[in-house]
Amino acid sequence: MTTRRRFLQLSAFTGAISAALPAFGKQSTTQNKPVVVSTWEHGMPANAAAWRVLSQGGRAIDAVEQGVRVPEGDPSVRTVGIGGYPDAEGNVTLDACIMDENMNCGAVAYLQGIKHPVSVARLVMDNTPHVMLVGEGAKKFALEQGFVEENLLTDEAKNDWQQWLKTREVQQINIENHDTIGMLALDNKGNLSGACTTSGAAYKMPGRVGDSPIIGSGLYVDNEVGAATATGMGELMMKTVGCHLVVELMRQGASPAEACEGAVERIARKLGDYKAFQVGFLALNKQGQYGAHCIQPGFNYAVQDSAGSRLIDGNSLLRGA
Ligand code: ASP
Repeated sequence: MTTRRRFLQLSAFTGAISAALPAFGKQSTTQNKPVVVSTWEHGMPANAAAWRVLSQGGRAIDAVEQGVRVPEGDPSVRTVGIGGYPDAEGNVTLDACIMDENMNCGAVAYLQGIKHPVSVARLVMDNTPHVMLVGEGAKKFALEQGFVEENLLTDEAKNDWQQWLKTREVQQINIENHDTIGMLALDNKGNLSGACTTSGAAYKMPGRVGDSPIIGSGLYVDNEVGAATATGMGELMMKTVGCHLVVELMRQGASPAEACEGAVERIARKLGDYKAFQVGFLALNKQGQYGAHCIQPGFNYAVQDSAGSRLIDGNSLLRGA
């Protein structure tokens, strides 16, 4: 089927959803649980850590925190935590958020010097009346909570940044230079949670914050329905509140894959410049069904459940060159 034909069909599909509420399509009542899904190949070791929590009957919220800490702490992952791409001035600034089954959520943005922003976000959720702390305030809070300040700019990242300074070529988030980890889990009790963490766009403008720490844009969880997370050009998710949209489409009866496709279609229909960028949505519903969709080919996601672990290619709106 041509991309255009598929696109038009999908527009009709999402139009039909809003025209004919509530819902079409029946969700299965059997639950695939526990299950964890996460974005990109670095989701494989992250899922393994999450699975250790889930397979022992642990909570989804603990699983997603433990899971995404793996790439955060791995300097070879260049897009999350320590070793992440710095901003244009050579500062590594991290964004993360976390959300549980009771609509509790926590987030940090523009956090420097602390390599596990997801755990700081967890403590914002658990230990403060707020949802988000940013910059110096987030760092002060992290230090008060016992986190240790570290240099997050590895030699490799510093060398690459110094090379970049020679051209200062504007980096756009296309299919190569991003890789946020977003993770969603359904635990044995049937509760959903999610986490999302990133160093953001490579060589971004100082002060830039993307979608990843924004509840609704980079992550959303509604324990009645499902959960969604996103990767790619954060500005596109922020303009469409993409993950909230995915969850709302599931509420109206869409499967996780259909809901992700609907959100990609919304971006394509509303934002004319979408073809230059990559965006990938990943969703998990209350039954443990999962699915993904992206603009460009090349987005994959990791799954772990009782059937084992695997890496799956997301379907894409465009077919690539
Ligand atoms: N979504 C992230 C951001 O815009 C980037 C990524 O997915 O790697 O900051």
